[in-house]
Amino acid sequence: MQLPDFWRHTAFREESSVCCTVFVKKIETMKAEIISVGTEILLGEITDTNAAYIASELPSLGIDLYWVTQVGDNRGRLVSILKRAWDRSDLIIVSGGLGPTEDDLTRESIAEMLGEDMEIDSDLEKWLRDLFSRFGYEMPECNLKQANLIPSAKAIPNPRGSAPGWWVKQGGKTLLAMPGPPGEMQRMWAEEIKDELRRSIDSAVIVSRTLKILGLGEAGVDEMISHLLSSSNPSIGVYAKPTGIELRLTAKAETQQAADGMVAPLEAEIRSIFGENIWGTDDEIMEKVVGDLLREKSLTLATMESCTGGLLASVLTDVPGSSAYFKGGLVSYSNEMKIAFGVERDIIDEHGAVSRQVAEAMARAVRDRLGADVGVGLTGIAGPEEIEDKPVGTIYIGVTDGTITRSTHTIFPQHRPRIKRYGATVALSELRRFLIDSQTDSK
Ligand code: ATP
Repeated sequence: MQLPDFWRHTAFREESSVCCTVFVKKIETMKAEIISVGTEILLGEITDTNAAYIASELPSLGIDLYWVTQVGDNRGRLVSILKRAWDRSDLIIVSGGLGPTEDDLTRESIAEMLGEDMEIDSDLEKWLRDLFSRFGYEMPECNLKQANLIPSAKAIPNPRGSAPGWWVKQGGKTLLAMPGPPGEMQRMWAEEIKDELRRSIDSAVIVSRTLKILGLGEAGVDEMISHLLSSSNPSIGVYAKPTGIELRLTAKAETQQAADGMVAPLEAEIRSIFGENIWGTDDEIMEKVVGDLLREKSLTLATMESCTGGLLASVLTDVPGSSAYFKGGLVSYSNEMKIAFGVERDIIDEHGAVSRQVAEAMARAVRDRLGADVGVGLTGIAGPEEIEDKPVGTIYIGVTDGTITRSTHTIFPQHRPRIKRYGATVALSELRRFLIDSQTDSK
């Protein structure tokens, strides 16, 4: 595969960092299922952010999510969905339908599905009546139904609302019912459920390792590791992020050593496939990696950007303490401004504003103007129109330390915001490579 020259130059020098580890249940898969209850969801009036939140929480517990279902406020359908979930899943997580009104039917439906009778729990009733009286109201009688429990459920506290959750355990299965409002649901999950759920699961170890890739698309990455993707333990997830592709390797085993021993050879094989396209691991972010290198070398940086409109400078300043090395950035969106900031008119006329030569000239100009050790210039086409017969997504990046000037180009045919974000990421990556390769230290 022919890579843009940028990638051919990129040197991979990442140190191995510690994998993240969590302790979880059994080695065999724990099947989880999420059910979001509410007609508003089915009508498209609200987005099911609860399911997305819960789904994002499960991997760190080593729980595999198999199904997500949305169902309206209809008792017959809710009972049948609950039955199906109970038959096929080990853990069922329900949100919504715990309110006081007629159409809040989650409790009734769970009771019917399990064939258990609901009864008012006196402690819950007292808690509810006190809640209302604290606000100076008498509790409407319809709220009393929120004090119901079934024999296999215990109440989950909800200090943010009037709907306690239900933690149901029966026959080795667990069902969690939480209120619909995301603020209530997320607090209940984080404060009342997550740790206890983790403890209730027998301990084994899950090790996961994220490898970060730039310079290849999701389909290309997928193809290059297609022979590895069918493995379920260790498993590989491929995720497209605005900053490139991430591969998450996950292994479950009885011990840390065994799980590490499963991830390590897979990581080595993937590194041999992608080589220099892998720029980082786990929580590393490119702007921090670059900032650390600049600090280490006591170098200062200045940027001049065209199509990214200052995004590169913005990303650099996301890192706390970046003022120690980042002198500033100029946005030269027009040719007039490029010239005003010191780019030679002749270079623009001869090569066009979107060119390797102009990116290098921008890097030199901003280095001089801002008195920095290293300058970066970025010019490209965010679209939707082509410029100078170059395709949308073309990006040129120049880097100079006053002695050596390097440049690269890449093409990322996407829509404007993604092209801009990718341009900033590639500029950071090119800068990282330059700093690693160059002998420049502060003068
Ligand atoms: P309440 O006690 O407020 O009635 P509830 O448990 O009965 O809570 P619902 O009535 O189903 O919950 O939903 C209340 C509100 O919570 C909805 O109007 C919506 O704003 C939000 N909500 C419910 N389910 C979801 C969901 N899956 N994703 C995001 N928001 C949700």
